[in-house]
Amino acid sequence: MVIKSDEEIDLIRISSLMVSKTLAYLASILEVGLTPYELNLKAEEFLKDNKAIPSFKGYRGFPSALCVSRNEAVVHGIPDKLPFKETDIVSIDCGAYINGYHGDSAYTFAFSEVSNEVKDLLFTTKESLLRGLAILKAGVRQGDLGFEIQRFCEDRGYSIVRELVGHGLGKSIHEPPDVPNYGKKGKGLIFKKNLVIAVEPMVNLGKKEVIMLDDDWTIVTKDRMPSAHFEHTVCIKLEGCDILTSFDPIEKSIEKNNNLINI
Ligand code: MG
Ligand code: MG
Repeated sequence: MVIKSDEEIDLIRISSLMVSKTLAYLASILEVGLTPYELNLKAEEFLKDNKAIPSFKGYRGFPSALCVSRNEAVVHGIPDKLPFKETDIVSIDCGAYINGYHGDSAYTFAFSEVSNEVKDLLFTTKESLLRGLAILKAGVRQGDLGFEIQRFCEDRGYSIVRELVGHGLGKSIHEPPDVPNYGKKGKGLIFKKNLVIAVEPMVNLGKKEVIMLDDDWTIVTKDRMPSAHFEHTVCIKLEGCDILTSFDPIEKSIEKNNNLINI
C-alpha cells in the first residue's frame, strides 16, 4: 500500500474535485432521450476543456471516458446509443488525471419515473457508503469497513457484489489495497494514515451474483434486477477520513434538473 505525502494528497484532491465537477456537469445535461454515447462525448469535451485526462479511456483498452451502467448493469458499462428513459437508473463512473494523479467517483442517477423500490436501493447504497466512511480512520481494518457497508445493505434486504471492490489510487487509477464492500470485523489489512482509497459499494436489488456481457466489459446482475453504485475517493486520517470527492455539486445539479430526482 502506497502512503501519500500531504503534497500528493493536495494533488489528488484537485483531480478528485475535477471528477465531482464533471459529474455535476453531466447531472445538469442528463435528460430523457439523450444517449450514453452522447453523454460520454460531453464528458470528454468537459475534461479536455479543464485540462484533465480521462483516467479510464484506454485503460486496459476501455474505449471511453465514462463507464455508464444502466439498470441491471452494475459497473463498467460501455456508453451505448440507447436513449435514456424516465424509468432508468444510471451509474456514471468517472476518473480524472491531472498533474500525475487520479481521482475517481461514481454516482447513480434516478430519472423521474423510477419506482419507490429502486429509489430505496439507491438511498441504501449511498447511505452505506457514507456509513462506511463514518467509521473509517487509521487503524480500521478492511473487514471493519466491509462489515459496516454489508450489514447496512443486507439488513435492508439487498445484496453486495463480491467480484468487484474498491481500491487504492494515486499515480495509478488502481493501486493496492483492495477495499471490499463486505467482510468480518477485525479481519484484513489495517488502513494507515495518508492512504488514499476509492470506496465504492455495488449493491443489488436481487441476488448478489453478477456476470460479464459479451463486450468483455459490462458487468450485469445475473438475475437482471437493478444494481446501484456510489463511489468516493477518500484519504485516511488519524481521526476519521477526508472525503476528497464531493456529491454536493452533483446534488445541486440534480435539484435543478427536472429529468432527475434526488435520492
Ligand atoms: Mg470509479
Ligand atoms: Mg473506482
